[in-house]
This record gives sequence, C-alpha cells and structure tokens, in this order.
Amino acid sequence: MVSSCDRCTKESVIYLRYSGQHLCRDHFLEMIGKRVRKEVRGQGIIRGEQRIAVAVSGGKDSILLLNLLKEIVEPIRAVSLVALTVDEGIDGYRPSSLDIVREQTDRLGVESKVKSYGDLFGMTMDEMVEKSDLGPCTICGIMRRKCLNVMAKDAGCTVLATGHNLDDMAQTILMNVLSADLDRMARLGPHDRSVEGFIRRSMPLRTIPETETYLSAHLLGLPIHELECPYSETAKRGHYRDLMMSAEEVTPGSRHSLLKFQKQLASLISRSDISTSKCPKCGEPVFVGEGKRSCRACTLLGDLEGAHEKETS
Ligand SMILES: [Zn+2]
Ligand SMILES: [Zn+2]
Repeated sequence: MVSSCDRCTKESVIYLRYSGQHLCRDHFLEMIGKRVRKEVRGQGIIRGEQRIAVAVSGGKDSILLLNLLKEIVEPIRAVSLVALTVDEGIDGYRPSSLDIVREQTDRLGVESKVKSYGDLFGMTMDEMVEKSDLGPCTICGIMRRKCLNVMAKDAGCTVLATGHNLDDMAQTILMNVLSADLDRMARLGPHDRSVEGFIRRSMPLRTIPETETYLSAHLLGLPIHELECPYSETAKRGHYRDLMMSAEEVTPGSRHSLLKFQKQLASLISRSDISTSKCPKCGEPVFVGEGKRSCRACTLLGDLEGAHEKETS
C-alpha cells in the first residue's frame, strides 16, 4: 500500500526512518531546501564573500549542490559561483562526467574551470596508480585536495563548497575515531575560518543522507552519473560504509549522531592552534604537525619519480 505524506494528502515518495516521516515530492524537496539553507547560514558561506568556489565532479551530489547553491546563494547578494572540476585522468570514467559538468554550468550560467592532474602534476591518475604502492583513493585524495586548493585560490575565492553528504561525513568521522586521529578530526570541515594557505571548506549537504541526495537529484531531473570510478572497489572506505550501514540499521540516526559528535568536538578544538609552513617545492601550505617539509602531493610525486628512475635505470 502506498502511504500518503504526513503534511498533505499527496502520495509519499520517501519514508525517513530516523525521523519517522513520510513525505511527498514537494514536501521532501522543501525539507531538503530548508536543511541546505540552514547549513549555508550556519556555516557562514556567504560571510562577505564575493566569489564562492564549488567543487563539481559531475556526480549527483556536486550537481545537486551547484543547483541548490545557485538558487539559495546567488539571489542573496552580489555573490557569484565558480565551479571547479578536477580531471584526474581516469580513462573511461572522467570524460562522461566532464560532459555533465559542462552541460550543467552552461544551463545555470555558472563560470566553470577544469584542471587536470596532467596539467598540475605532469602525470595522470592512471599513471600514478601504476607507479605507486599506495591505494588509489589515498593518492587521489591527496592530489585532489591540492588541486582544488590551488584552483580556488587562482579563481580568487576564499571558500570552497563541497558536495559531501551525511554518509560521507559519518564514514570519515568514524574512520578518524577508529584511528584516534584527532588532528584530522580538527581539520575536517566545515571550517569557520581559514588556516594560512588553505581555503576554508564548507559542506552544505552534510546533514543529508545519500539516499536523499540521490532522490533529490532524481526528482529535480538532474543528471546522475551512474559510472562508478574503476578504482573505487579498492577503497577502505567501503568497509566503513558497511559498518555505518549496519549501525544505522540497528540504531536509526547513528549517522546524525556521529555528525553531532564531530560538531561538538569542533567547538572544543581551536583551529588557531593549527600552524602551517610553506612547501619548499610548490609553495602550498603544509601542516607543521605532520613532521614533513614538503606538502603531501610533492612528497608523493617525489616518490613516484624515484620509482620511475629505479625502473628505467
Ligand atoms: Zn506533502
Ligand atoms: Zn608541494
């Protein structure tokens, strides 16, 4: 039997187990809009900013984020969005999502910038994976972070919004808790202020579960990039996704609780304690606590080049 919406007589499109609500299309989308507006205000995304960078991969979350921010942020003040896309150089995967980004930014009239690992690092993701012993997601995480930081600065932005949803956030928090990594926890966004050299990050979708970002994108008729990254199956993250799903199964609301825990912790940790130095190779910031002089990307590239020299000598 089809249930009806708790707020009107229309047919329900979703049941939210953690809050016990049935919602129709319109009431569901209204709720999503309200949650994102609340995060946009609470995270101070438009605090004096004129240009806001949005990380847009072409996946459903980032496309939804771009559409919602266009609707929420742009009318408020003379604020403009800049979509930043990283082309990792993953054969058979990235090109189709680049088409989606182009089509969406054209339709929305949003400035779009694309940078490839090849341009910035002289090597594609496929080449890096072949040469490194590190997991592909580790490599990609380091490189993408640097690429987006450089791109946001080049675009004259002081804040970068990313499409992380509640599941992404809960998995990351759980990983940090289980590895007792308080430094990483302190650096996890959203950030209320910038740390020297690093663009502050904002996550407007962080309270929205993945099933709901998927449904929102679907109901709004947005393109959903179905291709999965060919490297994703090797991700350690998959293990934490399963853990989180079983926690949610036993105790609905577990993901929200983890997010709340991180928010409480963030208010106890002062970001002013985080100090950075400059990478001698590229000038990008390095966290002093990490005990390295070069940034993680330059260290990794140095290792890859070393491996290459060994092979060819
Ligand atoms: Zn309704
Ligand atoms: Zn560097």
